[in-house]
Amino acid sequence: MTSSIRIAIIGGGVAGASLLHALVKSPHLDVHIFESANEFKEAGMAFGIARNAQSALQLIGPSAVRSLEQAGAVPMRGVRFMLAQGEGAGTLADETDSDVHGKSLTSIVHRANFLQELLAGISHDRMHASKKLEKVVQDGSVTLHFTDGTTHECDIVVGADGIHSTVRKLILGSDVSATPRNSGGWFLMTLQPFEKVQASLGKELISIEDAREYGWIGENVFLMHNILSDGKLVQFAIASNDTGIESQSLDSWQRTVGADEIRKLFQGYPPHIRDAVYELLCDQPEHKALYLWEHPNAPTYSSGPMCVTGDAAHATTPWHGSGGGMSIEDSLILSTLLGRAKTPAEALVALKVYDRIRRPRTQRIVEASRVTGDILMGRNEEYGLDPRKFPGSFVARWDFIIDIDMEKHRDDALQLMEAELKGV
Ligand SMILES: Cc1cc2nc3c(=O)[nH]c(=O)nc-3n(C[C@H](O)[C@H](O)[C@H](O)COP(=O)(O)OP(=O)(O)OC[C@H]3O[C@@H](n4cnc5c(N)ncnc54)[C@H](O)[C@@H]3O)c2cc1C
Repeated sequence: MTSSIRIAIIGGGVAGASLLHALVKSPHLDVHIFESANEFKEAGMAFGIARNAQSALQLIGPSAVRSLEQAGAVPMRGVRFMLAQGEGAGTLADETDSDVHGKSLTSIVHRANFLQELLAGISHDRMHASKKLEKVVQDGSVTLHFTDGTTHECDIVVGADGIHSTVRKLILGSDVSATPRNSGGWFLMTLQPFEKVQASLGKELISIEDAREYGWIGENVFLMHNILSDGKLVQFAIASNDTGIESQSLDSWQRTVGADEIRKLFQGYPPHIRDAVYELLCDQPEHKALYLWEHPNAPTYSSGPMCVTGDAAHATTPWHGSGGGMSIEDSLILSTLLGRAKTPAEALVALKVYDRIRRPRTQRIVEASRVTGDILMGRNEEYGLDPRKFPGSFVARWDFIIDIDMEKHRDDALQLMEAELKGV
């Protein structure tokens, strides 16, 4: 017999929203989502939803795929890595092309629009804003306590509460992996009008008919641009690494980057790219940049009735553009397993299986991203400013992420759950 299972999702970012979207299809699951902010909104700018995450959306269902389309996502025909400095400055380091391989690569989407589409049509009774989780009390039942003094009872708590996750700390306690660490790298992202960037960079680099993501590899400075919002916007982002971070405040999450600092970072770039950066970023005295933090590998993503997904489980540096994609994969697997559970006791098994299936893959991606970041900023000792020295193809570093057979991954999870349930 199937009894109702009460699920509380903490956090309304892409991890929480995609999980809610997937879970509401199972009528025996009574799902609620709690967000600490006073509304459900995405603060970030744009992200790439790569082939693996697109497959996960397809398996979640047609409405999930539509969310991406209706948010104005622009499929990239290709991704090109260019050498910006050193011997081969101005030439191609490596590329991948969806037409050549006959497969989609990545689609760039405005985060707020995507979140809005994922949550569209979901009953407002299930969505609770201004609810910041403070603690979880387990005394036979599971009670969530929020900072406004209210409570909520449930059977299962999913922490989709991001890199500062409260649920992660409840699961991991004093383990060193409970808190994230600063990589020292920082990213400054802007969204610019398409016409303005095209006028600066030229039609060859910025074209909606031939939409490609470009990454420019320089000496401790990386430039990336791609197209989104049905071709109306360009994400124009730069990254660098603070040397001597150890001696600086390791607790910083943000820093300002002044126009003079940007000019200095890009002075060795090919002149047409350098001038575009000056034009597009140095027209204001300073920008806000985010430090790139990541989680050390956690020994588990679940404990009893609690688990973590998305950045709460595996916050990563962004070099593989995979944090959001991993969150969507988590949502597919977790929703499949919880959908299979018929009772609260079986839902506990679902969380254990989710941990076993998802932890190895997601932690491998976090580790790979760290190495890729060093290569993209010319900081790798072996390859320096030229990833062509990389054995084999550099872009093949993404293969294990985007070429996963998501259907098999899901079926492996279900099979493991059936085996575990037989032993229950
Ligand atoms: C520079 C940069 C570029 C990136 N580019 C890409 C990319 O191209 N592709 C990609 O796939 N990924 C990318 N990522 C990663 C991606 O942004 C994240 O992995 C993703 O947004 C994580 O989503 P989330 O829902 O897990 O966390 P979040 O978006 O952080 O959402 C967590 C939510 O939980 C809420 N919350 C927190 N604590 C509580 C609490 N106690 N109670 C209630 N609510 C709470 C927060 O308010 C927030 O709304 C990038 C990241 C960075 C930094």
